[in-house]
Amino acid sequence: MAEIAAYWRNYIDGAWADGGAGRIDVTDPATGETVAEHALADDADVDRAVQAAGRLHRSGALTDMRPIERGRMVQAMGAYLLANKEEIAEVLTREQGKPLWESVIEVEGAAAYFEYYGNQASTVEGRSIPLGAGYFDWTVNEPFGVSAQIIPWNYPVEMTARSLSAALATGNACVIKSPEMTPLTNAWFARAAEAAGFPAGAVNVLCGLGHEAGAALSAHPGVNQIVFTGSVPTGIAIATAAARNLVPCVLELGGKSAAIVHDDADLAAFENDIRWGIYFNAGQVCSAMSRVIVHESRAEEMVERAEAVAKSLLVGPGIERAEFGANMGSMVSVRQRDRAAGMVQRATEQGARVVTGGRPLNRPGAFLEPTVIADVSPDMDIAREEVFGPVLSILTFRDEADAIEIANGTDYGLVSGVFTADLDRATRAARQLRAGQVFVNEWYAGGIETPFGGYGKSGYGREKGREALWNYVQTKNVAVRLKG
Ligand code: NAD
Repeated sequence: MAEIAAYWRNYIDGAWADGGAGRIDVTDPATGETVAEHALADDADVDRAVQAAGRLHRSGALTDMRPIERGRMVQAMGAYLLANKEEIAEVLTREQGKPLWESVIEVEGAAAYFEYYGNQASTVEGRSIPLGAGYFDWTVNEPFGVSAQIIPWNYPVEMTARSLSAALATGNACVIKSPEMTPLTNAWFARAAEAAGFPAGAVNVLCGLGHEAGAALSAHPGVNQIVFTGSVPTGIAIATAAARNLVPCVLELGGKSAAIVHDDADLAAFENDIRWGIYFNAGQVCSAMSRVIVHESRAEEMVERAEAVAKSLLVGPGIERAEFGANMGSMVSVRQRDRAAGMVQRATEQGARVVTGGRPLNRPGAFLEPTVIADVSPDMDIAREEVFGPVLSILTFRDEADAIEIANGTDYGLVSGVFTADLDRATRAARQLRAGQVFVNEWYAGGIETPFGGYGKSGYGREKGREALWNYVQTKNVAVRLKG
């Protein structure tokens, strides 16, 4: 394993910089040991980064370029990530806790965003609007200018890649506020931008505390557009700051997503959906399948199968888990782990039954046993609140209407699933489910090509797919009065 540098800096205006707010320790959640220190940005650092991005935007260096050229540079950033895949994955596992094989998947996923949006750079076309013989009219879609991107700790590489690739492809200059718990891997975006030939100011990466650097960035008058992934309270704070400056934002705020499993579903195949849906990244996934709503006739079998999946997972330090398989790493922090364990405890107090798991592992590190909770009713906290951990809640339904009502019965609406052999039933559910994505017979069906985002308190705006490009551009209409 390569040695990890002891100290990591921010990247502002094309140069590595110390932080005005000092340094922060980055902890390996699997051991509790300090991995490295990272520079911590203050308001002045944020201001310098926003100014640098603004200057670069106004220079026209990105916007004057032919989009296909800019797209090639975006793609080169993805190639850079792939070329450094092993090293990034190791650091990611050390700072975040996920198994090494999951980190490799994350870096590959991040690179794919640069490939996909690099390809799209030249497709952001305007249109010509007929106004009769006396006029010639056309539209152009111009970048907002400075895009501020506030990143969560659960997928620090993939989430930054998602917004950064689309923002650069459309010609924006970017200021990234990396997550304070997992900031190290974001350094590779600065390196990738340099390697791809982006000018200074195009990509700035700062680590800072949410209520300091994060708040300063989202309130900065030089920011023209904001992208945020994280919790609902922070999303509200960011939307409020954005409203004060009248700038648009994209909010991706998590969920309490449900799979409806009908009596004709293939439950053997569904074991795979449980494995990926709730135990991938130890359940710290905004679109996790945290609720299964199963027809009462199959409930017993479902509980048995979920228990078997949970018990099959070998839990331990992610760095020892290089091979894809039945294993799980630590959660991101002891605080998050204790929060999840506390929610399991509260569920039992409200009448739910822990089938397996629910306890911290008896060893150092932020480990929680893969957990299955049965006898959950829709009014319990565990059925309504995001756990953000490896905790599956199983509920039952009698008829289709009942299932939809339960699935739609939370404040969230990020993704949803329906599992059945009956295509008519699946299609009906897809129409009735209030969520930004509906998976039929495979949790996470779709990919970076398919639009993703929430209904309700899961936020607004869309990431992924061609839809995401519209977050980063504004339409200008040009109307020309012709002579004769
Ligand atoms: P958070 O929303 O507080 O943090 C996410 C990011 O926002 C971090 O970069 C943080 O520094 C920044 N931030 C925090 N306060 C800010 C502020 N006032 N202004 C601007 N930026 C600010 O999330 P968290 O505390 O790390 O985790 C708490 C919960 O959030 C989790 O348990 C989970 O439910 C949810 N979460 C969801 C996702 C997701 O993908 N939807 C990701 C991470 C966390």
